[in-house]
Amino acid sequence: MLQTASGIESRVQQKLGGNPTSVDSIVVGKGNEVKMKPGQHLLIVNQLYPYTVQFKEDPNRGHVGTKRRQPASEERENDKKASSIKVARPAERVASSVNNAESTLTIETTGHWSLGLKASMQDPKMQIYKDERVVVIKDKYPKARYHWLVLPWESIPSLKALHGEHCDLLRHMQQVADKMIQQCKDASSLRFRSGYHAIPSMSPLTLFSSHVHLHVISQDFDSPCLKNKKHWNSFTTDYFIESQDVIQMLEKNGRVTVKEGAGELLKQPLSCHVCHKELPTLPRLKDHLKSHFP
Ligand code: AMP
Ligand code: ZN
Repeated sequence: MLQTASGIESRVQQKLGGNPTSVDSIVVGKGNEVKMKPGQHLLIVNQLYPYTVQFKEDPNRGHVGTKRRQPASEERENDKKASSIKVARPAERVASSVNNAESTLTIETTGHWSLGLKASMQDPKMQIYKDERVVVIKDKYPKARYHWLVLPWESIPSLKALHGEHCDLLRHMQQVADKMIQQCKDASSLRFRSGYHAIPSMSPLTLFSSHVHLHVISQDFDSPCLKNKKHWNSFTTDYFIESQDVIQMLEKNGRVTVKEGAGELLKQPLSCHVCHKELPTLPRLKDHLKSHFP
């Protein structure tokens, strides 16, 4: 089940076949066009039915009266880019086919930031490893010298949607992550961690954006993209849940539970993940890190 982003109006156009795709239980039907409003649910079937989803910003709607999440800095940069592209401009084609030319999913968008991850995983230029179950891409805004994302082809919106049958998939994702680390030329000098964010920043209410992803990240955190406390705490506190722990929870309980108040962890004071020294600002912390990672 997918939901539109606030302030974005989406149009779903069906092109082929008796596709039972529906928007809030209204079947789209062959050759029809359906406008989606924020909050409506889009149910789509599988790779058998090609269709086009267009994202169009409604110039009259603005954000008045719409509660909109404050995006992270890199996402804000993309947001700016998106809004600077006028609606009248031809939509940018961002996704290409997966595996099978007959089952093409095309997303046309003016570039709203929340669509980026989904588009990147489909983009052969971004893929650095893929098999029948997962794809690995470089994180576009790496928070360390090495930062990859392992994504399953299967669309799993969040940790909450995982159940016992996903154990095998998650173990495979972990194996692929381990392989990535082993193949890294700096593996002997850098420590790596692989895990999930308790609450992925790209998930809330955004159409096509939610997709479980395993972060594989070197522990130097030497990157200009690491810009704020939220970035830092999302990788160095319990907000970052080890892949092994997620797998264990699934094996034991058949589901993943995220501690209540996990979001509060992002507000914690900045403290070095190596020696636990507290630093007052991120620039000071980054300076301090140079002593651990020359
Ligand atoms: P989170 O949802 O907090 O687990 O993190 C999402 C990750 O996706 C962040 O590390 C972003 O830097 C990364 N990201 C955002 N947009 C893209 C994109 N278009 N391609 C690749 N990675 C992205
Ligand atoms: Zn330290």
